Amino acid sequence: MTPRQEILRHCDTLLQTAQFKDYAPNGLQVEGTETVGKIVTAVTASRAAIEHAAAHNAQMLLVHHGLFWKSEPLTVTGWKKQRIAKLLAHDINLAGYHLPLDAHPELGNNAQLAQRLGWTLEAQFGEQNLLNAGALPDSQSTLPALAAALEQVLGRAPTVVGCPNATRRRIVWCTGGAQGFFQAAIDAGADVYLTGEISEAQYHLANETGVAFVSAGHHATERYGIQALGAALAAHFGVECVFFDENNPA
Ligand SMILES: [Zn+2]
Repeated sequence: MTPRQEILRHCDTLLQTAQFKDYAPNGLQVEGTETVGKIVTAVTASRAAIEHAAAHNAQMLLVHHGLFWKSEPLTVTGWKKQRIAKLLAHDINLAGYHLPLDAHPELGNNAQLAQRLGWTLEAQFGEQNLLNAGALPDSQSTLPALAAALEQVLGRAPTVVGCPNATRRRIVWCTGGAQGFFQAAIDAGADVYLTGEISEAQYHLANETGVAFVSAGHHATERYGIQALGAALAAHFGVECVFFDENNPA
């Protein structure tokens, strides 16, 4: 068993959490046992993830999307009460790492996605270094080929807007709900911008600028950072770490 505080301190150092301005608390969100031998990782602290952690006698649930967001009501009622009650009943520590886990150049969602797709990560830029630029391999240089590679790796077909015949080399990406960064990607000279979600406006921007827009799934693009963090903790502390996945279509 490892003291909880050692694990949290290690995460803070690794991910440099103090450097980020976030709209969710990074680190411990709900306190459980003092020591940890088993960690369940998940994208989101959903009720299903909490129940999984409880059923597997984990002392920590480690997630990318925690329970507390600046935009949400400050009260603990309804579904939020149920999630917190379950955590407290089983003495499970809930720890969340949001933007620091998107941006980390090796363990982060952006870096891990690139690694799985074979994209070279050439530069990080923009808002808190959340945008990434790189080169597409030749085998993904058209939109249909890129879409096929994404479907194979992520297990889900992406939504793609753009001319299928054009040759594309330069990809800019940001995992999750980062459709608002499309203009920044266009300004940075992208041939393709990829993120997890699409809104109505991006369709028109893609058609009018010629820069393709790919929405590959918020959950699907953010599955890998938390697993990499879990693996790093398992290697460093010898704690057991298992990933809980959900079939989230968004
Ligand atoms: Zn996200």
